[in-house]
Amino acid sequence: MHQVTLKTSGTTYPVGKILCLGRNYLDHIRELGNQVSERPVIFSKPASSLLPGGGLVQIPGYSRDCQHELELALLIGRPGKNIDQAHALEHLAGYGVALDLTLRDLQAELKSQGLPWDLAKGFDTSCPLSAFTPADQVADPNKLDLTLGVNGQLRQQGNTNQMMRSVEEIIAEISRYFSLESGDIILTGTPSGVAGITSGDRLEGRIEQVGQLHVSVA
Ligand code: MG
Repeated sequence: MHQVTLKTSGTTYPVGKILCLGRNYLDHIRELGNQVSERPVIFSKPASSLLPGGGLVQIPGYSRDCQHELELALLIGRPGKNIDQAHALEHLAGYGVALDLTLRDLQAELKSQGLPWDLAKGFDTSCPLSAFTPADQVADPNKLDLTLGVNGQLRQQGNTNQMMRSVEEIIAEISRYFSLESGDIILTGTPSGVAGITSGDRLEGRIEQVGQLHVSVA
């Protein structure tokens, strides 16, 4: 059973499902040439994809284009279904720094065939994740700077105020489709600047007030 930890209190949560929002930043939709869709793009990663606390990423041999996507992660602390936006933040235990690592070449192949993306998104170590900062220590999750550096060079820079759906909207909308349970994790999408990583690269993700995540590529 995979677990994640809340900083300060040290409370642990057994990980449930990991749900991810795609296409939540307009500049990233444009850089990949995707369409803006009215219904949210939601996919999931298995718990076995987690790399808690960061560490060593193993890119599978069947891909030649693994890309980084820096994302704000939400940890559900209180269960709910059909959650109102006005009460959405009350369901959060904490915020974390996550990478949604993606095998872009395999994803493009699957997309072109109209097939699910799971193989491109769910491989072992595809979800590096920091410890979670308690929700009450983050003033406004919709106003946080995010940056990702690779080998000391800035690759992704954004702010969660650029998200097309706010944290409250994401929780409300996802909970229409899935019951949210304590220990579920939601990845909220990535700003532009996604690019490939290769063996030996060192990645450093930072989200204001939330924390940082260090990863290197085997
Ligand atoms: Mg993503």
